[in-house]
Amino acid sequence: VRMERQAVQRAREAFQSGRTRPLEFRLQQLHALQRMITEKETEIATALKQDINRSQYDTPLLELIGIENEIKLAIDRMAQWAAPRPVEKNVLTISDEVYIQPEPLGVVLIIGAWNYPWALTLLPLVGAIAAGNAAVVKPSELSEYSSLLLRELYPVVTGGVAETQDLLRLRFDHVFFTGGSTTGKLVMEAAAQHLTPVTLELGGKSPCYIDKDCEIRVACRRITWGKFVNCGQTCIAPDYILCEPSIQSQVVDCIRLTLLEFYGADPKCSPDYGRIINQRHFNRIMSLMEGYTPVVGGQSDSSQCYIAPTVLKDVPPHSRLMQEEIFGPVLPIVTVSDMDDAIRFVNEREKPLALYIFCNDKKAVKRMIEETTSGGVTVNDVMMHYTLSSLPFGGVGHSGMGRYHGKHTFDQLSHQRACLIRSLKMESVNLARYPPQDRRRARR
Ligand code: NAD
Repeated sequence: VRMERQAVQRAREAFQSGRTRPLEFRLQQLHALQRMITEKETEIATALKQDINRSQYDTPLLELIGIENEIKLAIDRMAQWAAPRPVEKNVLTISDEVYIQPEPLGVVLIIGAWNYPWALTLLPLVGAIAAGNAAVVKPSELSEYSSLLLRELYPVVTGGVAETQDLLRLRFDHVFFTGGSTTGKLVMEAAAQHLTPVTLELGGKSPCYIDKDCEIRVACRRITWGKFVNCGQTCIAPDYILCEPSIQSQVVDCIRLTLLEFYGADPKCSPDYGRIINQRHFNRIMSLMEGYTPVVGGQSDSSQCYIAPTVLKDVPPHSRLMQEEIFGPVLPIVTVSDMDDAIRFVNEREKPLALYIFCNDKKAVKRMIEETTSGGVTVNDVMMHYTLSSLPFGGVGHSGMGRYHGKHTFDQLSHQRACLIRSLKMESVNLARYPPQDRRRARR
């Protein structure tokens, strides 16, 4: 408890002293972060190899390039983001200075998940720094090697559930949390005791609809990549496929072929195929598959936390597999009668973090977007909406609240202060609002 308290107190003092506010200080911090990522790229990739056997090529692609781009963007645009934003005036304020001044909130607590341990802590941190806040960063204890390395490079608070709960008892000005929905509720509850606003970047089941009139071979290659990269442990991975019964076997065949192309005959030997983070999650995913006969994959090795890329077909819509987020390399296919049925299926469930639609008919695509909701949508590919700093990334309903990336992070971690500056001259204009009544009437 002492360590956590000290970290928060240090951050609080840094903020109170005003040190974190000048733009030069923010720039200097961002440059330091940029140097850290560039210089430690190999070490970071090695740590992730040790944590989840992630391919050395995937770490720059999935995490580091994105972080570097966001740092660059913040460095370039920060002055613009932080500048006062003049707004429209009305007759009563015509000669006043009226503007919105983004200002730092104070001390921001960032709690990260283990599946992308660098992006999920550093992307919010970039915005927190750019907005002039002091931050306390708590990476996940499950990505052990990554957390240890991060601790060597940057002052963070490490620890698991108990330490995080201790932290959450303290007072922050914003809590930025990435993790599961169940933990998210606890975080929000703890933050409520201090009326601290929260950003919750949660998970859930992101549906992936494949229309019968599309290039199924291409669709399946893109889906296979998004589902099985990082061994299925990606918050915006397609959780399950929805398609008509008539194309189900073709979908299965195309995924099987793609898997062979990506990971060879035995994915266990592929340097590009990952592992499950730990035994607990391994058991959880294995138990979700119980009672099914996989049409692709299904092999496992608990000593290595290995689960082969697995596809299950004709999965009943109300099975346990279709209730909770899979967060592993298991891809169920649920059949629907048409797009309307798919829309109904999506709308009957919690609002997902992402929705994927593979379809050639632009009008039908627009209709599906209009008649459903989700944190974000990518059409004819997966996950690509995440890669743009211009698009707000976040959930809706059960998949979270708040948004980030690029300027959205800056805004999320700033207070938009309403400012009106008027002069003491021209008092006569104000007389109409002062009592007594009869004098007012006379002046009208
Ligand atoms: P998790 O909720 O178990 O843990 C997240 C963080 O909370 C960790 O730092 C952990 O130490 C802490 N924590 C765990 N239990 C806690 C408790 N009882 N009290 C206080 N703190 C606690 O999530 P995870 O297993 O690390 O990550 C997987 C989940 O995160 C999935 O649901 C996934 O979809 C989601 N996720 C979402 C995003 C996103 O951007 N929306 C990104 C990655 C992961």
